Amino acid sequence: MLLDLTEPLKYQGDSCSFSLEGTLPQDALPEGIALCAPVLVSGTITAIGHRVALVGNIQTTVRASCALCLCPVTTRIDCAFDAMMIREGYENEQIDAEEQAAEEDAIVFQGSACDLTWAVAEAVNLQLPMRFVCSESCKGLCPVCGADLNHETCGCAPTMDSPFSALAALYSKDE
Ligand SMILES: [Zn+2]
Ligand SMILES: [Zn+2]
Repeated sequence: MLLDLTEPLKYQGDSCSFSLEGTLPQDALPEGIALCAPVLVSGTITAIGHRVALVGNIQTTVRASCALCLCPVTTRIDCAFDAMMIREGYENEQIDAEEQAAEEDAIVFQGSACDLTWAVAEAVNLQLPMRFVCSESCKGLCPVCGADLNHETCGCAPTMDSPFSALAALYSKDE
């Protein structure tokens, strides 16, 4: 996702609005999670010297499988995205300590275009839920026969892998 910085670099100090649409490499997202819409990055960019500040947001949609029943789940991503870009060769210009701290995560670019791919990927990754579930009340799959318990009821006996079911089996023996 290459962002053209020609305009802001030319009109120093002016905020230029931008909108960039692209995609991320497959390995930029965790396994099992894929984009199902283009990644849209938009906002404003302002150059001061060879430094360009970006203030904007990211919008896209990702698809994964429900952790319980494996059906496809899509999640909309809409988050703030800020970045500092520095032209290669000017990273160590005389700047004060405060600015230096703000530039630790800066993206170095060459010429007049900056590759935002990995910065955008990182921001998208931070927005991913810990786990994808199709609904809070998803019943998941039967551990014995694999039936989707949201849609059908199978006749399988409850599994013995929980301490409670083991206890229940003990009591039923006494009866
Ligand atoms: Zn589910
Ligand atoms: Zn079953």
